[in-house]
Amino acid sequence: MPRPYESSIITAVQQACTELGQDRKIAAIGTSACVYRFIVMKTHEDFMRLALKEAEKARKIDEVPVGCVIVRDGKVIARGHNLKEKRMQANAHAEMIAIQKAAKKLNNWCLDDCDLYVTLEPCMMCTGAIILYRIRNLYYGTTDPKGGCTDTLIQIKQIRHLNHHPNVTSGILQPECAQILTSFFREKRKKPKKDKSQFQSQ
Ligand code: ZN
Repeated sequence: MPRPYESSIITAVQQACTELGQDRKIAAIGTSACVYRFIVMKTHEDFMRLALKEAEKARKIDEVPVGCVIVRDGKVIARGHNLKEKRMQANAHAEMIAIQKAAKKLNNWCLDDCDLYVTLEPCMMCTGAIILYRIRNLYYGTTDPKGGCTDTLIQIKQIRHLNHHPNVTSGILQPECAQILTSFFREKRKKPKKDKSQFQSQ
């Protein structure tokens, strides 16, 4: 049944959010003609904050703090953080872990209705995986001058013959995403050399 006041109610809720300094999208999901449920749509920043939470989990276990979430229909369906040292796997990057979880959850390798949020620009391997798994939108926080293969070392939009190009948006919560990395490496440099040689020999 039509819900005649839906659009004006959405507009009112949206205005209220704007007045509160929250620039949110509002959606209504009605269960009947007179019952409204409103959902406040999460923003890109909200999802990146969740990716940052994942990065924080990595930092706590002394891994390079990179975190990722995968979103489908406005909901997080998979999370991941860097586990390279813990697993002794050079490919245990946040994106790879989250992508594999998402594919398993959906029982589908084709994630073309999924969006990926990651705190750091993906490396060559993860950029490849994002293409292979047909991720729809990629949002990342800060660029990686030494390993970023989406825009920095390689610009995937310039590679014409790829059979899939994700839409790429960078700079979501860039200062926070960069800060967690710089503070991690600053702390690392303070640690005694013994630790460092141990780290390098692994
Ligand atoms: Zn990677």
